[in-house]
Amino acid sequence: MMLLAACAGWQRPVSIAALQSPVSVTRTPTSTPFLPATNTPIPPTITPSPTPQNTPTPTWTPTPTPPPRAQYRLDAHLDYWQRTLDVTEQVVYPNTTQKPLKNLVFNVEPAQWDGVFHLQKVTVEGQAVKGTFSGGTRWEVHLPQPLQPGQSVTLEIRYRLKLPYKTASRIFGASARQINLVDWYPFVVPYDASQGWLWHKPWPFGDHLVYPAADFDVTLKITDAPDGVRVAASTQPAEDGHYRLTAARAFAFSISPEFRTAQSQAQGITITSYYFPELAAGGKALATYARKAVTTFSKYYGPLPREHLAIVATEAADGMEYSGLVFLSTNFYHQYNGTILNNLVSLGMHELSHQWWYDQVGNDQAMQPWLDEALATYSERLFYQDNYPKDAHLWWGFRVYWFHPEGYINRSIYDYATFRPYVNATYLRGAEFMEDLRQRIGDPAFFAFLRDYQTQMQGKLATPEDFFRILNAHTSADYEDLRKNYFAPAR
Ligand SMILES: [Zn+2]
Repeated sequence: MMLLAACAGWQRPVSIAALQSPVSVTRTPTSTPFLPATNTPIPPTITPSPTPQNTPTPTWTPTPTPPPRAQYRLDAHLDYWQRTLDVTEQVVYPNTTQKPLKNLVFNVEPAQWDGVFHLQKVTVEGQAVKGTFSGGTRWEVHLPQPLQPGQSVTLEIRYRLKLPYKTASRIFGASARQINLVDWYPFVVPYDASQGWLWHKPWPFGDHLVYPAADFDVTLKITDAPDGVRVAASTQPAEDGHYRLTAARAFAFSISPEFRTAQSQAQGITITSYYFPELAAGGKALATYARKAVTTFSKYYGPLPREHLAIVATEAADGMEYSGLVFLSTNFYHQYNGTILNNLVSLGMHELSHQWWYDQVGNDQAMQPWLDEALATYSERLFYQDNYPKDAHLWWGFRVYWFHPEGYINRSIYDYATFRPYVNATYLRGAEFMEDLRQRIGDPAFFAFLRDYQTQMQGKLATPEDFFRILNAHTSADYEDLRKNYFAPAR
């Protein structure tokens, strides 16, 4: 199956010059043309909001004590040229539900491909147990005795991954120049009191996983590594090959002997851009753009409790976010033209914003993808508004209006047969909804809401009910017409 990462909603390249002087441009035969066909660029119909004179009030509500999180200890041994990863995984899982659990449901992403995931042993408190696979990636492990609410259980899972060749249609795997380890370990999916285990089947586009926040203690040993190999990870190692990351959604690696790096600092966070030598222009520029983006997003959403962020080039069709690490398509770097309106900048900043809308505030990405994607797309708009105010309005034409987006924003990924209509509705109409909402309730309420939403839902899985409950605490404006316009009625 072809798996497009499809986080950012890849779009074809278009330059500012093309938008400003499109007369000579001819219509492309594709169903999603990327350049204006006739005479004028599509003008923004929304008056750009002025940059708020008053930055959001830095009221900081302490986050309530979260329920205990699952702990993952992953000891991994990568044989670089054999393309094998041997893993011993220990999971301490606390039952934070209100009912005894007879089984735990894991998602095992590598199990969807033949010959990749090889389970050797699984034990619960030292006792061998059995599990049942279904749906490709759903793995139900049977506990010897029910796990009572408030109690924890320790599992150990030993397995080997035979890394598949990394095609351009997915992030995971080994190419001639790079090994990417994403969703490389079984993790227990969230349990929802009304819905049960939040496991969703893979889909050819969009993100189907729901990640609870968890703590990670990871060691990575690499043997037979080529000279000069460098490791990009969800955080920097505390000591050689040993990483710790708390309250994170996922732990990712990218490993390559070809990486070059550029760094910047923002808000106490070290940002490292990892790129291949031929991508130096964009790779270096990203460090600067990312510094501005982290500053902007911290201002509006609240500080990001991370010390490191990695931006990693990879041969894929799109961008993709993981905790502390985002991937960007090498295509974006090749298209980079030194201006601000291109995929490298807009989608690069989109992916970075997922550190707030995905990593800090989680959601069911399969069933309610608008909750992270509309906000991540609108984050691009905030990046341009704050850092490039003269040209910020061009973003709407370049990123949104060109595609004539339509559709309700609150559909699931499974409601779409193809990628473009999903992106147009969820991301692009999603950004239009955020803009209309902002115009309706005013900047002070809008930004106070976003910050409060981020604070209240940090480390949790937000729902649309949470979104509107917290919104309504910040405004008494009537926005029912916007809900009718943008949101499908409940089924
Ligand atoms: Zn995204």
